Amino acid sequence: MIKRTAIIGGGAAGFFLAINLKELCPQMEVTILERAQRVLRKVEVSGGGRCNVTNTFEDIRDLREVYPRGHRLLGRLFRQFDHRQAWQWFEQRGVRLVAQQDHCVFPQSQDAHTIINLFLSEARRLGIMVKTGCSIASLDELSDYDYVCVTTGGQPRRDGLLWLGQDIVEPVPSLFTLSIADEKLTSLMGTVVEPVSVMIPGTKLRASGPLLITHWGMSGPAILRLSSYAARQLAEAQYQLPLMVNWAGVTETEVTEIVGTMSKDGGQRLITSIAPCGLPLRLWNYLAEKALGQRAHAPWNSLNAKEQRRLVNILTADEYHIAGRAPHRDEFVTCGGVALSAVNPNTLESRTRPGLFFAGEVLDIDGVTGGFNFQAAWTTAYAVAAGIAGRN
Ligand SMILES: Cc1cc2nc3c(=O)[nH]c(=O)nc-3n(C[C@H](O)[C@H](O)[C@H](O)COP(=O)(O)OP(=O)(O)OC[C@H]3O[C@@H](n4cnc5c(N)ncnc54)[C@H](O)[C@@H]3O)c2cc1C
Repeated sequence: MIKRTAIIGGGAAGFFLAINLKELCPQMEVTILERAQRVLRKVEVSGGGRCNVTNTFEDIRDLREVYPRGHRLLGRLFRQFDHRQAWQWFEQRGVRLVAQQDHCVFPQSQDAHTIINLFLSEARRLGIMVKTGCSIASLDELSDYDYVCVTTGGQPRRDGLLWLGQDIVEPVPSLFTLSIADEKLTSLMGTVVEPVSVMIPGTKLRASGPLLITHWGMSGPAILRLSSYAARQLAEAQYQLPLMVNWAGVTETEVTEIVGTMSKDGGQRLITSIAPCGLPLRLWNYLAEKALGQRAHAPWNSLNAKEQRRLVNILTADEYHIAGRAPHRDEFVTCGGVALSAVNPNTLESRTRPGLFFAGEVLDIDGVTGGFNFQAAWTTAYAVAAGIAGRN
């Protein structure tokens, strides 16, 4: 008898699962049920319209750095399907990929439609049915199917997940930028500093990378990473916590040496006229004035030990107050979702409801920016397809 699989959600994970399942089990009837009128909408806007499909993982020593939630499970599932297999998967189907210097992988076309067109044409070629405008609110609606796969993506609220009947980890946002109520800082919008390290004082939560000053506060990879690592703590504190910035990106000892040397060698030149640590001059002026007031306009060689100390402090431990979560249009994911303890770690099948599987962001798995979230979607979707195929 022909077996039937329903996939709820026509996003990245849903399509990847459907295509792999149909290739592994050509006899299976596979249907994608999508609530919206159009499928793959997030893929279309991903990576600024370029779709950062994966990452080379070259710089990654520990998966915890890039998957604050789900690193252990993904480490296991990567043995079935990792970034190298994802690369091959796309190239074998005619999509050339390129890796950037920062290890992010994009289609050579630099156009997310290349990925969408591939998924749509593969779905057509394999006879996968795609029904749009089809919102599923209860699993009972799908009792005719042998297998049901949930690939509904991140849900902002627990209520949106209860119909699945699984243990849920409270969803909260991840990968957002920070609002900082400091007009002098935000007047520097557009300034990029690299590398900086940012941290939540009194915790081990820290991240480093480029930082972008925006008209509402701070953004850029360092801040997005911190928002991911601290997603839960920030939500609990209602996005009101202190933030510490090391603008120099090097240790306090190194900065003490740099400031000491500049005080000796800078001579009569004004403090505000030469920036240490390669900082943009406008930012340095803001920092020097914040640390020294009018004395920031004095000559370097007039600095006393206490003033040098203040400069070191502002360069390495500059404190701000996070005044909320700010909008960020490039990437945004949900931390939380279906608890990983609720699923079989090899097949992602529900432990309490046989025949029900989960893949993609609906699971309590999320990564930092850089192609890691799509990789999680490809890997989990593949694991489900292989898990179902293993039974047929
Ligand atoms: C603006 C933006 C840019 C991004 N860029 C990147 C990037 O470049 N690289 C990267 O790795 N990650 C990126 N991400 C994250 C990435 O898009 C997601 O992690 C990924 O799309 C998750 O795939 P998914 O299939 O699990 O969920 P989704 O892509 O969200 O798909 C879920 C689908 O399910 C449908 N659905 C939901 N509920 C129901 C229901 N009850 N019935 C029927 N259908 C339903 C939804 O309409 C949706 O189409 C970006 C995210 C955003 C928001």
